[in-house]
Amino acid sequence: MAVELELFEEYEKKEKCGLFGVWGTRQASQICYQGLFAQQHRGQESAGIAVSDGSALNGHMGMGLVSQVFNQRLLKEELVGHGAIGHVRYSTTGSSKLCNAQPLLRQYLMGPVAVAHNGNLINAQLLRRQYEEHGHIFQSTTDTEIIVHLLAKPTHVEKHDPLPHVLKHLQGAYSLLFLFPNRMEACRDPWGIRPLSIGKLPEGQWCVASETCAFDAIGAEYIREVEPGEIIRIDDHGLQSRTFDAPATERAQCVFEHVYFANPASKIFGQTVHIVRQELGRMLAREAPVEADFVMPMPDSGRSAALGFAKESKIPFEEGIVPNRFVGRTFILPNQVQRDRAVATKLNIIPDVVKDKRIVIVEDSVVRGTTTRSKMRAIRHAGAREIHLRVSCPPIRHPCFYGIDFPTSQELIAHNRTVEQIAQFLEVDSLAYLSLEGMLKCMKDPQSQYCTACWSGHYKVPIDNPQSKFSFERDQLKMF
Ligand code: SF4
Repeated sequence: MAVELELFEEYEKKEKCGLFGVWGTRQASQICYQGLFAQQHRGQESAGIAVSDGSALNGHMGMGLVSQVFNQRLLKEELVGHGAIGHVRYSTTGSSKLCNAQPLLRQYLMGPVAVAHNGNLINAQLLRRQYEEHGHIFQSTTDTEIIVHLLAKPTHVEKHDPLPHVLKHLQGAYSLLFLFPNRMEACRDPWGIRPLSIGKLPEGQWCVASETCAFDAIGAEYIREVEPGEIIRIDDHGLQSRTFDAPATERAQCVFEHVYFANPASKIFGQTVHIVRQELGRMLAREAPVEADFVMPMPDSGRSAALGFAKESKIPFEEGIVPNRFVGRTFILPNQVQRDRAVATKLNIIPDVVKDKRIVIVEDSVVRGTTTRSKMRAIRHAGAREIHLRVSCPPIRHPCFYGIDFPTSQELIAHNRTVEQIAQFLEVDSLAYLSLEGMLKCMKDPQSQYCTACWSGHYKVPIDNPQSKFSFERDQLKMF
C-alpha cells in the first residue's frame, strides 16, 4: 500500500525552485513578492524573501504559496530594505520542511548572508560528510547549505573575492542568488543547466530572475542571460560582471524547461517557450501523423504543443477538458478507483465534445504513467471512440540529478518497456513519442548544447554515484 500511495503522490513533475532578486529600490520586498508570484509554477511548497537595509539582513520564509507566506504588513513594515532576493521551492521526497525553505539566512565571520538556489549539487553529499567530520553542524537537509559552509571556510574568508573560490567546489546544477548587506550577486554553473536572466526596471534598477515572465510582471525589460560560469555583482554602483570559471566546452541547458516546466511566456535559453512547444507539436505531427476528428490539449502544459500539432496536421483544435484550478496538485489516495475519481475532479471532460469522437491528445511528457492512465480513462468514460496519445518529448527512461524531481528509473513507465507496452498500460488506441532528434531540432542552439540525460542516459556532468541524490536526502532525514 505504501508504494501505491507514493506512486500517485507524484501527480506533477517537480522542479526545485524559482529565484528573483532586485537591488536599489525601497520597494525591494514588494517587487520581489511580485517576481516570485509570477514564478509560482516553479515551486509551491515554500517561499521566502530576504532583504538588506545596507547594514543588516532580515528574512521571512514559510511553507505554502507566496500569497500564503506573505502579507502587506510583512512586506511594508518588516521586510524593509533596498535589496531583496526571494525563492519559491519544491522539496524532493520527505524534505518539505521549514528548515529547508530558502533563502537560507546565516551569519558567519564576515557578517550575514542569504542564499537562494535553483538546481541540484551532485557532490553535496560528499562535501557535507567532509564538513561534518570536521565538526560542522548543519541546520537543514538541503544541498544548498553546503555553499554557506564553503563561504565560511577560513581559507575562503581571507580572500578578497571569495565567491569564485567557493563556486569552483560545486558540481552539478546551480543558478544562485546571494544577498550581502552591501550587494547582491548572481551566478550560473559553467554548464548553464538552469536558466537565470537579468532585467532592468524602468527607473534603472537591476533585477534577476529564473524566468523572464517575472520581468513582465514587474514591468522590467529583459536584458540578457547570466552566462554559464559568470558572476554578476549588483550594488549601489551598478552591475559588474566577472567569471569564476570558463564556460564548459559544451553547455547542458535543460530541454525539459522548454518541454514542461517554464511558463510559455518566458524566454528560456534565448527562445520563447510557447514558440518552442508549438514547434515540438509540429515536429510530432510530422513524425507521428494520425487520422482524427480533432486535436485536444492536455491542460495546461500540453496546450502549445497541441496547437502546433493541429496546425501542422490541419486537424481542428478543440478544447474538451476544463481543469479545476482549485483542486490541489497532489493526490494521496489509496486505490486506483479513488485516484481515477480524483483526476476526474481535477479535469472536467466535456462529454458533448468528446462523445464518439476520434481524438488526438497531446501531452507534454509521461513520467510514471499512473496519472496519464487516469486521464485517459476519464476521457474514455466521457465517450471518446478513439484516443491517440502523442507525447511532445521522447520516453523518459532515466532520473534527473540536476534539479528535476523525477523518480528512480524503476518507477518510470518507459523504463524497460516498449512503446507498445506503454500504450497497453495507458489504455490508448495508439501512442507515439517525439524522437530525440526531432525534439532537439526545435532548439535554437546546436544539439551538443543541451542536456538530454533523462531521455538518453547521457549525463554531461558525470554522476559518480547514481543513487547519491536520493540517499543524501534519506540519510539526512534520519537526523530529524
Ligand atoms: S536530465 Fe532531463 S530534466 Fe534533468 S537537466 Fe537534463 S534534460 Fe533537464
